[in-house]
Amino acid sequence: MLNQDHIALSIRNLRTWFHTDQGIARAVDDVSFDVPTGKTLAVVGESGCGKSVTALSILRLVPTPPGRIEGGEILFGGQDLLELPLGEMRAIRGNDISMIFQEPMTSMNPVFRVGGQIMAAIRLHRGLSKDEARREAIALLDRVGIPAPELRVNDYPHHMSGGMLQRVMIALALACGPKVLIADEPTTALDVTIQAQILDLLKTLQKDTGMAIMLITHDLGVVAEVADEVVVMYAGKKVEQAPVNRLFAAPRHPYTQGLFASLPATQQPGARLHTIDGNVPAATDFPRGCRFHPRCPKAMARCRDEEPPFRILEERHGTACWLHAEGGMAP
Ligand code: SF4
Repeated sequence: MLNQDHIALSIRNLRTWFHTDQGIARAVDDVSFDVPTGKTLAVVGESGCGKSVTALSILRLVPTPPGRIEGGEILFGGQDLLELPLGEMRAIRGNDISMIFQEPMTSMNPVFRVGGQIMAAIRLHRGLSKDEARREAIALLDRVGIPAPELRVNDYPHHMSGGMLQRVMIALALACGPKVLIADEPTTALDVTIQAQILDLLKTLQKDTGMAIMLITHDLGVVAEVADEVVVMYAGKKVEQAPVNRLFAAPRHPYTQGLFASLPATQQPGARLHTIDGNVPAATDFPRGCRFHPRCPKAMARCRDEEPPFRILEERHGTACWLHAEGGMAP
């Protein structure tokens, strides 16, 4: 879909399954997409669609067992991360590819000062002296908008608000100048004003550094704010992909259309809030055929038996739905 020179990270036919007592949960099942350099790719879907497992798979942080990456490739800098020895993978994590989470405390140690944690990351990956690392940590805190960084560098995490901590986590993630930043619901726990500030900060940092961002979210408002390209996932599958403007102007998959219809802004005053009927199926029990068929208002007979292939409909816009399979091109 994109010129190879402009791709920071390429996920090819990724399959990550969990082997549970209830059966095999095909959390990510043959998913492919590229994260473009200097751009933001949003991965959207309801909880349980496989978006976070995709992110953990990229960093090889899927808990094993019960999880296992069954197949596919994750191409970064000309190598397949799934083939790397664990030691080399550790060097890539936090250095070339960083991740921030919804809950900053999952990445921070509550008993150490925030500055010390940033300095530890800088020294581990960049071999700077203690003084140099401290100066760098203060500069990073300043860059992510922490006021009086030379004082706040001595704070413990519990001294900071949720928004401040999220900024610290971004500083931590940026400590080694990553080429790719994976942000998993980075603003979900924050109030709307702080959320907007954090999204602005990510955009500014991306402009300054040229890093690629893979943003995982269930929130189409966040997507509209920051994404260049969007992947929509449902039940472990990529069901639609498009540049953000095109997706918002003309979503093609009935699931994507359902997501947009359930946005409050598209409701008439006083109208009942539209939601997609039914529930996301359990990953151990995905239906045959199109996994969305039990909830799809446009389902046809073949949808119950045959899985729709992903097809490109127009430049960089594709979907996996029998309504659009004719005339579409294989990726
Ligand atoms: Fe609906 Fe069929 Fe398209 Fe699936 S393939 S989204 S069931 S119309």
